[in-house]
Amino acid sequence: MKRDPVCGMTIAEKDAVGTAVHQGVTYYFCSEGCRRRFAADPAEFVK
Ligand SMILES: [Zn+2]
Repeated sequence: MKRDPVCGMTIAEKDAVGTAVHQGVTYYFCSEGCRRRFAADPAEFVK
C-alpha cells in the first residue's frame, strides 16, 4: 500500500490513477486531481 501525499489516502499501487516521480521517489495518487496538485508544487507535499 502507498499513501497519496496530497490527500493522505492509502491506496494500493494497482489502484492508483496516476503516479509522479519526485527526487527519485515514485508517488501514487488516488485521482488525477491529486496528481495535478502534486505536480504543480511537489515540495509542498513532500516533507
Ligand atoms: Zn488523493
